[in-house]
Amino acid sequence: MKQLIVIADMEGASGIFESNQAALYHEELFPDHNAWRNYGRKCITSDVLAVCRAARDMGIDDILLYDMHFAGCRESNIELEKLPALVRTFDLTNRECWWSRIRGQAAAEPYGIITVGQHARNGEPDAYFPHTIHTPPIESFYINGHHVAEIGTAVMCFSDVPYLANIGCAASHKEALELSPDVSCISVKDKAKKWEPSFDETYPLIYHETIRALKDYSRKSAYPSQSAYLCELNLSADFCFAIPKTFPFKGSFEERTVRWEAHDIETALSLFWYVQAYFQKCKP
Ligand SMILES: [Zn+2]
Repeated sequence: MKQLIVIADMEGASGIFESNQAALYHEELFPDHNAWRNYGRKCITSDVLAVCRAARDMGIDDILLYDMHFAGCRESNIELEKLPALVRTFDLTNRECWWSRIRGQAAAEPYGIITVGQHARNGEPDAYFPHTIHTPPIESFYINGHHVAEIGTAVMCFSDVPYLANIGCAASHKEALELSPDVSCISVKDKAKKWEPSFDETYPLIYHETIRALKDYSRKSAYPSQSAYLCELNLSADFCFAIPKTFPFKGSFEERTVRWEAHDIETALSLFWYVQAYFQKCKP
């Protein structure tokens, strides 16, 4: 049984640029916009479809998909009914980003992980919509010295699982390559080169390059699991921590930085959400 994990975001999807960014606005939060339903969903669906068809054609027999864009909104960004029958989604309330629940539903040893629709971290140059999970208030997030955002948290959550491909904004590959130098990098748009193709143009490119990545399986590597995960989260200007008197974990707060340590990645990522309760606007 070959199980593939597919983690999808949307800012790095084909066909979505600053000029049409309303395509990213989920209807449950932005009911006045219709570009998400009429256009944005088609873009990310096309990219995910290319990945899933390539995986199926290469002998993958189970795909577990997590659609993480606007986690907390009920409706999927991806038009799930268009995907091949071997694709399943994780059982999560409103697609909420509970990494331990996600990891727990997958096989002990999945065949591989692919990230798609991915954008670059906050601060990366020549990037479409660069941000680190929620920027602001999150300026940056580090785990064991790796500057991580959506790609890094997903790939580390699946530590030891071969990282096969990253698909998205050209500027997003840097984070992917820092986690695994052997990951296939498939660009669907490139701000530095002013390359803004349609999703119809990138579909065959994603399909063929995903096939190539899977054929190259023996040369792929995983982010290796670690015996400790040291996390550091920094807030952007204007935000400060409401420093609690006690913090029931190994860690400490400063005005704009919190650090904690856990011995497994699932706990480390759970605490990432736990500390959000202490975000506040700085007092003038
Ligand atoms: Zn997103």
